[in-house]
Amino acid sequence: MMDYKVLYRKYRPTRFDEMVGQKFTVEMLKNAVINNKIAHAYIFTGPRGTGKTSSAKIFAKTINCLSPVDGEACGKCSNCLSFSNSPDIIEIDAASNNGVDDIRELINNVKIAPTEGKYKVYIIDEVHMMTQSAFNALLLTLEEPPSHAVFIMATTNIESVPITILSRCQRFNFTKISLDDLCNQLKFVCKNENISIDDDAILEIASLSEGGMRDALSLLDQLSSTNTKITTDLIVANYGSISYSFINNVIEALDSSNLTSLHEYFSQLSTSGADYKIFMKKFIDSLVGSFNNNKFKRLTYSQVKSIVFEFNSIFNEININVNPFMLLELILINNLAHDVTPHADESINILNTAKSDDLVNSKIQDNDNLSVSSSFSSHDDVSSVQVSDDFVKLRINNCFYGAKKSILNDIKQIWNDIRDSSRLSDEVISYVSDTDVVASSSSYAILVTDLDSTKHIINENLKILEDEVKSYFDEVMHFIVLSKNEWLNVKKEYVTNIKNGYIYKFIPENIEDDINTTQNDEILETNIFESDKIEIV
Ligand SMILES: [Zn+2]
Repeated sequence: MMDYKVLYRKYRPTRFDEMVGQKFTVEMLKNAVINNKIAHAYIFTGPRGTGKTSSAKIFAKTINCLSPVDGEACGKCSNCLSFSNSPDIIEIDAASNNGVDDIRELINNVKIAPTEGKYKVYIIDEVHMMTQSAFNALLLTLEEPPSHAVFIMATTNIESVPITILSRCQRFNFTKISLDDLCNQLKFVCKNENISIDDDAILEIASLSEGGMRDALSLLDQLSSTNTKITTDLIVANYGSISYSFINNVIEALDSSNLTSLHEYFSQLSTSGADYKIFMKKFIDSLVGSFNNNKFKRLTYSQVKSIVFEFNSIFNEININVNPFMLLELILINNLAHDVTPHADESINILNTAKSDDLVNSKIQDNDNLSVSSSFSSHDDVSSVQVSDDFVKLRINNCFYGAKKSILNDIKQIWNDIRDSSRLSDEVISYVSDTDVVASSSSYAILVTDLDSTKHIINENLKILEDEVKSYFDEVMHFIVLSKNEWLNVKKEYVTNIKNGYIYKFIPENIEDDINTTQNDEILETNIFESDKIEIV
């Protein structure tokens, strides 16, 4: 066992090309080398096992390489060959107890030029663990770094790093490694190491390690030491895990409202000693995954969302005195009983009315110029569940029909007041604070948000927002929420339409609305947006 190397160390990447995941970060770091734009300080942040320290080492090696090729170290020059023992690469683990004095001393020596390499590179792991005095010493150096010094800091806890340090660093966010990437790497390692394993078991290990390569390979290490074929059963037995095929059976029972099967599965879970937290995570993963892939016959967006929220809210609060699986089963059954929320119902009714009525229908088609549908269907199946493209188009159309810049300015003012209001429910306040008004008529307004989740939630609860806003300033406003990109497309379409002489007509949402009550006899203009200049790219 002397030369036994744990898999994680053995398969640690030594080149950017070998990195698993983090494509964007790797690309940026390579470009820095290619363009010879090396900053004095970097901070790599992200969950454990996602490649921060490996990237730091690869970057340190590459910037010291005498003849890098396409942003990768050559592996042949004297600096590359001596890299692992180079005195110019200083690794500091800020989490270790004796680290503090080391850090101060090492940083004090920063002015001394590198002995061999081009750069003296300080790799500080878990930098958030440094003491205040160590941070102070580091800060002094970062304020006036010698030209040969490069600091690469890594942290799993960026919130604990002082802003004075952060402001002097180039920041790179490392994300959890995707299931696919983890699976591929596990397959590669198993093949190389002659580890006998089935595909389901690989997926099982990948999902248990939650995006961390180190955890995935450590788990594989432990499992492979048994010298028997690694199967899902073995993992389930050893780690209280639950297989994806089992989870998918539960979800299928839920989707077909088969309460007998559902109860059967939960009885099995209760008696199997399975870990309910693992179950909850995997269940949510699979539930959302199946929803996104349109696999459900009956489950609606509202139900999926509500299950996810309820699971999430009890995740850390399940009392060990109750049987957690019983509680989870109850949540699922309860959500089956409440099919669609009343607000979503209303939106759907409006859509059905609009669709079934020829007059309205033809008006919507009249409006084909406003071809926003492509931007909605491209990546966004969820929105179409509750608020159809037609409904969105209709509201956008009606907003543009009477939109004026002066109204927009008023509404923006009101929006700011609402944000500070204590009269509205927390729910509505949170909607309002995540969105901006970008166009408005006296009864329609388009809101824009950065967050897809906000968009879906508000569009599903438009009635709540409208009721509360009405109680606030006595006007009936109809809202629609778009993502930033959708808005840019919509805005562009609008300006093009106006330039082509297209005239917007009001489309009633309900049949009872009198189509002729509103006449828009003013000349339409492009100048309805916030800025005076309309920038169209
Ligand atoms: Zn080299």
